[in-house]
Amino acid sequence: MNDRDDVTLVTGGSRGIGRAIVEKILEDGRRVALTFRSDPESVRKLEEIWGDDVRVFPFDLADRERPQSLIHEIETDMGPIGALVNNAGIQRSELTALMSDASWDEVLDINLGGAFRLSREALRVMVGRRRGAIVNIASLSALNGVAGQSAYAASKAGLLAMTRCLAREMGRRNIRVNAVVPGFVATDMTSGLTQDAIDRLRSHECLPDGVTPQDVARVVAFLLSDDAAGITGQALPVDGGVSA
Ligand code: NAD
Repeated sequence: MNDRDDVTLVTGGSRGIGRAIVEKILEDGRRVALTFRSDPESVRKLEEIWGDDVRVFPFDLADRERPQSLIHEIETDMGPIGALVNNAGIQRSELTALMSDASWDEVLDINLGGAFRLSREALRVMVGRRRGAIVNIASLSALNGVAGQSAYAASKAGLLAMTRCLAREMGRRNIRVNAVVPGFVATDMTSGLTQDAIDRLRSHECLPDGVTPQDVARVVAFLLSDDAAGITGQALPVDGGVSA
């Protein structure tokens, strides 16, 4: 499926689940291009820590023009992109009856539109080489109703639908497209939740210790690897058993 020298592109790779994904892919001996949206200084420090196998590139998912130049810059600087992880995303907690059009549009545009636009550009280069893999980071909210998350859940459910369609479109070109479906993971995104809310989200977990960014990262790395050569169009929950 992929060449060991191919680059893995991870969006939002500077913190949280994205950072754990970058670390796991580096540990596996592969090179990573990661994108960041703000705080270039601290991101450049990551380049220093992680060394030559990592390059960082500015990217705002809301920018409709940027994906094309981003893919071109990465390939010019580092070589062929063999894998893409659509990890970056936003979450707003708002009751639907109180939600503005702008808020709905922003969440859908960043989480779903952004992944669509970047996948489109990445696929254009992967198709020519007839190899590649994409993993989309969805969410358990795509499967289970959560009050206050209708826009987020719709964006993640859309990501799962897009995953299945891309798998059908791209399979014959030897490109696999899968999704990972995390449950609750302690990161900046969930840091505003009260302990009560966290307990509620975790109350259906079968396993005792919760899910870490590293747990999600290992599954992403598996789906990108040749160990998953027979898997495409799937959504793999990493949720401590909530969906069991
Ligand atoms: P996080 O907030 O730490 O990371 C989100 C990343 O996305 C950050 O690097 C941020 O800079 C980037 N980002 C946000 N908006 C962006 C934009 N407009 N352009 C470019 N980058 C942007 O949160 P996380 O928990 O690490 O989330 C990573 C992914 O995992 C997200 O897609 C999230 O929806 C998903 N997820 C998280 C949980 C959880 O419980 N933490 C559960 C399910 C799914």
